[in-house]
Amino acid sequence: MFKIAVLPGDGIGPEVIEEGLKVLYAIEDKYKLKFDVKKYPFGGEAIDKYGVPYPEETKNACLSSDAVLLGAVGGPKWDNLEGDKRPEAGLLALRKSLGVYANLRPAVLYSPLKVASPLKNELLQEGLDILVVRELTGGIYFGPRGTVAIDYGFKAYDTEVYQTSEIERIAVIAFEVALKRKKKVTSVDKANILDSSRLWRKTVEEISKRYPDVELNHMYVDNCAMQLIKNPSQFDVILTSNMFGDILSDEASQLTGSIGMLPSASLREDKVGLYEPIHGSAPDIAGTKKANPLATILSVAMMLEYSFDLIDAANDIKDAVNKVLEAGYRTFDLGKGIILNTQEMGDKVVEYVKG
Ligand code: ATP
Ligand code: MG
Repeated sequence: MFKIAVLPGDGIGPEVIEEGLKVLYAIEDKYKLKFDVKKYPFGGEAIDKYGVPYPEETKNACLSSDAVLLGAVGGPKWDNLEGDKRPEAGLLALRKSLGVYANLRPAVLYSPLKVASPLKNELLQEGLDILVVRELTGGIYFGPRGTVAIDYGFKAYDTEVYQTSEIERIAVIAFEVALKRKKKVTSVDKANILDSSRLWRKTVEEISKRYPDVELNHMYVDNCAMQLIKNPSQFDVILTSNMFGDILSDEASQLTGSIGMLPSASLREDKVGLYEPIHGSAPDIAGTKKANPLATILSVAMMLEYSFDLIDAANDIKDAVNKVLEAGYRTFDLGKGIILNTQEMGDKVVEYVKG
């Protein structure tokens, strides 16, 4: 029995989580599975109740679960808090406590939504199905940093640091997921300038020898940023560092044209994972029933695939989402069509999952 800690969070978080759970329960039914699902306070909700965004009770639950499903945190109510008291600090603490060093962000363009993409139609002939695998717990965001006063003004620095073992483990994740996809990894770095990138490239090259069936190529990050716009269908898995991945995954996601559709997974080697939509708590639409629950529903699909190895069930959800869109159903953010509210969209996906 898989144990799932659910953190609904703030704003539209609880609204989209409700729909994600609906779909999870439909899968439970269909495949005669039993999930142990419990909700815990997190983010602003936890600050209101306990004064901290990531309470001990929530932490213990997350650390003893097979997967964590998160809505979104934060909002204007908590914007004036500082440091560890902020909802967003809870998010960093959550990721850190789980030790999830691999961030997976698919950028998938569902064909009924082609009109929403900023790319010209001919570039999307072969569709768009990219998975960015970003190193999440090392690199320049965690290296030595500082600001010192000098004769004129200040000097500030941040340092990109990677060691072999960190690169090896993220590379293994990228090659493993590539095996289940089009078997192509593009490793992105800046090895013409940076020592850390040269180590990155050499290490990825070594790991690739264990995966003879996966094609590996290397690309400089500036070229990759360009190629994503020029010829996006050349990519399958993009493997890259923390900062490059931050930037490239946002770029890739925008090619799909809709923030409300994009899920994410953060993993470590033992399959325990944190799953969340990439969007925030969207306080501007909270309570209006306009939130698109599909990013969360697709995050549930990622959870089934990556943490539980329930590939058929995950595909059922992805197929259902595609069929719902093909039938013309849309939430407010997706443009013209048969407009559904948050709950109605969740119900519609459940209907198609049941088949
Ligand atoms: P954060 O700092 O948490 O990322 P943000 O304000 O930068 O928050 P979002 O909360 O993701 O970013 O919202 C950005 C815009 O996208 C808002 O206008 C919001 O209403 C819209 N949006 C985000 N998620 C959804 C969704 N699931 N459905 C519909 N619209 C959404
Ligand atoms: Mg944001």
